[in-house]
Amino acid sequence: MAEQNPLNPPNPGHDSLVDGNVLAAKSFARCGVKHMFGVVGIPVTSFANRAVSFGVRFFAFHNEQSAGYAASAYGYLTGRPGLLLTVSGPGCVHGLAGLSNAMANTWPMVMISGSCDQSDAGRGDFQELDQLEAVKPFSKFSVRAKDIKDIPNCVVQVLDWAVSGRPGGCYLDLPTDVLHQTLTESEAEELLASAIDGADRKLIGTEIARSEIERAAELLKKAERPLIVFGKGAAYARAETELKKLVERTGIPFLPTPMGKGLLPDTHELAASAARSLAIGKCDVALVVGARLNWLLHFGEPPKWSKDVKFILVDVSKDEIELRKPHVGVVGDAKRALELLNVQIKDDPFCFARNHPWVEGISKKAKDNVSRMESQLAKDVVPFNFLTPMRIIRDAISGMGSPAPIVVSEGANTMDVGRSVLVQSEPRTRLDAGTWGTMGVGLGYCIAAAVAEPDRLVVAVEGDSGFGFSAMEVETLVRYQLPVVVIVFNNGGVYGGDRRSPDEIKGPFKDDPAPTSFVPGAAYHLLIEAFGGKGYLVGTPDELRSALTESFSARKPAVINVTIDPFAGAESGRMQHKN
Ligand code: ADP
Ligand code: MG
Repeated sequence: MAEQNPLNPPNPGHDSLVDGNVLAAKSFARCGVKHMFGVVGIPVTSFANRAVSFGVRFFAFHNEQSAGYAASAYGYLTGRPGLLLTVSGPGCVHGLAGLSNAMANTWPMVMISGSCDQSDAGRGDFQELDQLEAVKPFSKFSVRAKDIKDIPNCVVQVLDWAVSGRPGGCYLDLPTDVLHQTLTESEAEELLASAIDGADRKLIGTEIARSEIERAAELLKKAERPLIVFGKGAAYARAETELKKLVERTGIPFLPTPMGKGLLPDTHELAASAARSLAIGKCDVALVVGARLNWLLHFGEPPKWSKDVKFILVDVSKDEIELRKPHVGVVGDAKRALELLNVQIKDDPFCFARNHPWVEGISKKAKDNVSRMESQLAKDVVPFNFLTPMRIIRDAISGMGSPAPIVVSEGANTMDVGRSVLVQSEPRTRLDAGTWGTMGVGLGYCIAAAVAEPDRLVVAVEGDSGFGFSAMEVETLVRYQLPVVVIVFNNGGVYGGDRRSPDEIKGPFKDDPAPTSFVPGAAYHLLIEAFGGKGYLVGTPDELRSALTESFSARKPAVINVTIDPFAGAESGRMQHKN
């Protein structure tokens, strides 16, 4: 007897039938989707199992929030939409954390949620929610498959929208009744083929205005104190080779945003990171590539920037250019724009010499600041402050060479200190709280990084508070045996734990644990051991070094619990002015 294909139940005398679960899974697989993150349950479990059967690897999480953060970062790292699967109602709401994070960071992502039976909507069905309405503020495109026949087209559309123009989050709603409808295999194939054929791929293809490229080149050439700033939009565009060409051809100093770090190595002699205030405060022309002039760049305004600075903005989003009103706006893909700019400059070359006062001034200031920082870092302070363990971690990461590990970082002091101490030498090797300052991204980002870049080790450097948001996902690390080492800077809470001043907390509950505090000395290293991973508790340089050596070479899930002096660090990290 011929073997039966479990995906195609027999339908004697006819074509075999497929249901909505099979058709949706097949559509995603056919569109090239390789990975999916999520939490299963009614009504999407069968869809997830079908997807696996079609070759999509499914990463099952404990919470949709973490799975959603994973999907968002996967989109950034791979340039293909990261997929999040959730159940209806509360599952969808948890998933909004990831979807909104993708929107805020302009990363391509698709959230797929099951939803209640269409005929029961409005009557209090199981986990009922008007999900299309709920996702509206957090997505650039959303669609419901109202009938099984809509599925292939909807799948093609959400995937396409997520990466078109300015990348972002999209949503696909799959009602329970649609997942259970059936049609014949040949009908399914026809629908799928025509959806893929008809895909209106609005990729980044907008032609870049040559006149703006000419104006940009002209402005840079005439500048006395030019600066090149680049961000995660340039990283997403994989513009590193063109950026390197531009910087080396023109001799202009550069400044990466936190996640732009690594597009050019932090150790490059034209890196202005260690002279940031001088560079942005005094430059007269700034070429800003794939980075918004938002809070992270002080809105491009005084007092941090000079009031006369002329901006050249390169961004794939026309809206972004219209919002910031730069002197020159180049709408288009960063890599393509820089290619054109390089050609333009080659035809009419200029180069700032290393002894040009502007370039020399920046490099001198950077060297002074680096050596001041290094002398702080060189001390072995025990109980640990933030600097001593960060230096040891930096050296261990740098010692890994290439391919460099991906660093995931969140927390207040831990992220701030890590940003200036840890060295990025390769593109897209830093994931942090990003545009939204999202805390809780840690483990989701780790899992996405390990899946998207299997050759790299993943090292998370997190505060204990940041870690706690998604700590249960250490079980997910162990289950899939991902090469992720999570280093927790444990100072007993937010900022510095329970460092109360008697004047600040009064009243009948004044003796409760402070709002900033967690249990002191929490044994986070034991959490991963509960699932068979490796845990380390460290409080001295030797203990930390040995834990790093062992866990980095094992390339297995590990948590290193680093005891930090609760009196080290500042409230709000370095953002006191916002608190
Ligand atoms: P950062 O946080 O590093 O400063 P932002 O997230 O603020 O970066 O800015 C990234 C910008 O990059 C967004 O405005 C986005 O529209 C833009 N962008 C995204 N993809 C591309 C691309 N392929 N080419 C150019 N710009 C892009
Ligand atoms: Mg803390």
